[in-house]
Amino acid sequence: MFANTGHPADSWYLATAHGFAPCEPLAGEARADVCVVGAGYTGLGAALELARRGASVVVLEAAQVGSGGSGRNGGQMHMGQRNDQAWLEKRLGRDDALALWRMALDARAHLLGLIAEHGIECDFVPGLIHARHKPGDEAEDLEHIAFMAERYGYDQLEPIGREALAHDLGTDVYHGGYVDRGGGHLHPLNLALGLARAAQGAGAVIHEWSRALDWRREGGTIVVETAGGRVRCDQLLLSGDGYLDRLAGAAATARVMPINNFILATEPLGGRAETIIRSGAAVADSRFVINYFRKSPDGRLIFGGGENYRPGFPSDLRGFVRRHMLKVYPDLAGVAVTHAWGGTLGITVHRSPYVRELAPGVRVAAGYSGQGVMLGPWFGKVLADACLGEGEDLALLSRLPVPPFPGGRLLRWPLTVAGLSWYALRDRL
Ligand SMILES: Cc1cc2nc3c(=O)[nH]c(=O)nc-3n(C[C@H](O)[C@H](O)[C@H](O)COP(=O)(O)OP(=O)(O)OC[C@H]3O[C@@H](n4cnc5c(N)ncnc54)[C@H](O)[C@@H]3O)c2cc1C
Repeated sequence: MFANTGHPADSWYLATAHGFAPCEPLAGEARADVCVVGAGYTGLGAALELARRGASVVVLEAAQVGSGGSGRNGGQMHMGQRNDQAWLEKRLGRDDALALWRMALDARAHLLGLIAEHGIECDFVPGLIHARHKPGDEAEDLEHIAFMAERYGYDQLEPIGREALAHDLGTDVYHGGYVDRGGGHLHPLNLALGLARAAQGAGAVIHEWSRALDWRREGGTIVVETAGGRVRCDQLLLSGDGYLDRLAGAAATARVMPINNFILATEPLGGRAETIIRSGAAVADSRFVINYFRKSPDGRLIFGGGENYRPGFPSDLRGFVRRHMLKVYPDLAGVAVTHAWGGTLGITVHRSPYVRELAPGVRVAAGYSGQGVMLGPWFGKVLADACLGEGEDLALLSRLPVPPFPGGRLLRWPLTVAGLSWYALRDRL
């Protein structure tokens, strides 16, 4: 089981988090219109929306607010859905693909609106560069840029030649790429804590260290059990992503698989910081196991690279991620790595999120496959709207194809890990 035991002690995000008052574990009985399981972007986004609109909400968090993927991630805000628009058109047709693109625009506006409205200090910086790690893929990038401009009117993508990119990033390992001015990056944990404060301010009650162990129906209500008590509610939202284990049932377990991904922070880079990512954008490369990086406000490199597919992190996490960083910035060999941490995220076969009504009044959103910063708070709102009997977005998202991983629950691990390892190996060829 991929357990969340609280904020990782060696996280730079934790070291720079804006204080958040601990929440009492659930003790005894509580009653709510909606019980939300998981205090990450999805659960907090849902709780905020529900409470704001007058519903009573209890959030159960197994560990601490934002201590799942939401407080550990790369902070990269990717524009669009996780699947690109050409893929969505092929799978769902033009109308749904267009609706999903509009949803992505709404999700972006929603996130930036929440940050502004609630004064969430999370250091948002616009711009995200996609860097090619192999030569020869330039035509594909140009085709994508033209496709997005012509079919979706999206004019925020701009190609960057190899030399210009090398100058901006301060490394010549990439073969060019393009910038998405609609993307950006931010401090992910401070975003999560800010959303939690806003949800509490609207009336939501959050209990930390309160793992939902099980749920059942009793008459017309749903009863959610924790070690210290139970919540009786009319509706239940399951927003535990990679940490959810079996709480959402067999169909969800077969479709959303947890994996781990890792990040480090260097010491402040002094003068070298001025020549690394001069534009200030976030960077994600085109590898299957993506390297992603950005600069902190105090001039550190925050670098994500490497993953594994079993519970538990590599014992020498700093060394593990550092090896990936040195392939991109070999001259940082003498720089100290001051923090390193990992986190768990849910992935699906096609990388499409799994957003469904599992049973009357029981809904799940998980498996964002590494793209929850922008989509998580919005998918939380989608779940909240559905609880209130509104909105079409849940039905639209439910049409995304999310097949089970091959091999069933027991065999999917060896089969999928073999597949993922093959793609990771191809990165190195
Ligand atoms: C290392 C890493 C890097 C990433 N980088 C990026 C990035 O740069 N950009 C991006 O967009 N996305 C990124 N992601 C993905 C992103 O973090 C997730 O998509 C997003 O945080 C999901 O939010 P969530 O609220 O659904 O889940 P989470 O934030 O994981 O929250 C789920 C919460 O549910 C709780 N929970 C689970 N089960 C129970 C239970 N039974 N009872 C009570 N509580 C429970 C967990 O403790 C956890 O706190 C990354 C993820 C990782 C791990």
